[in-house]
Amino acid sequence: MKVKENLELIQNEINEHLKKSPYAQKVNLVAVTKYVSNERALEALDAGVQHFGENRIEGYLEKKNLLKHVTMHFIGTLQTRKVKDVINEVDYLHSLDRLSLANEIEKRANHRVKCFVQVNVSGEASKSGLKVEEVDAFIETIKDYNHIEVVGLMTMAPEQATDEEIYSYFNALKALQLKIEALKYENVPCHELSMGMSNDYKIAVECGATYIRVGTKLVG
Ligand SMILES: *Cc1c(COP(=O)(O)O)cnc(C)c1O
Repeated sequence: MKVKENLELIQNEINEHLKKSPYAQKVNLVAVTKYVSNERALEALDAGVQHFGENRIEGYLEKKNLLKHVTMHFIGTLQTRKVKDVINEVDYLHSLDRLSLANEIEKRANHRVKCFVQVNVSGEASKSGLKVEEVDAFIETIKDYNHIEVVGLMTMAPEQATDEEIYSYFNALKALQLKIEALKYENVPCHELSMGMSNDYKIAVECGATYIRVGTKLVG
């Protein structure tokens, strides 16, 4: 399938499922290009995709260089010792998941980095992210960091989760986002929600997602 065809299909589904969302959100589609060639990424650019996501530093820098004027999202686990290699090239970081990482960003970044705090809503052992009950204290600790702007929260549902479970995880993240947004901290606007991948973005849209991260179904 051409990316253009996949894009139209996904866009239609987003619009369909937005009708079931109680929130008046705008959904940004991030094309996750980690599995695909530069050619395929360029095809996505050509089809009109504006946001691109990569989960490894090498791939991230390569795509950023290739695609030029797009918005780039770093969506993978970021090792603390690698922060200096990439942080000043990052438009959005979706994986702020621990204090040591926040401290390193604060030290190394030369701008205020737009970050999503990653939350492990399901509690699945293999997933990274803060536990739900750790998020409040984490926000309190980093709220005055000059080089971090908490634009929102991010989560991933476990692969084997049922639709019912996925709704409950995504609704829980939405509730947490509203709670943090209501604190009105200057560096913590927390208006955004990054959730939904190829298998579950329709549910994510219904639950208030503003950034969905789609690889396989768009460019795979
Ligand atoms: C790979 C990846 C995606 C996209 O996954 P697909 O199932 O291919 O859509 C989204 N988010 C993160 C964090 C990923 O690592």
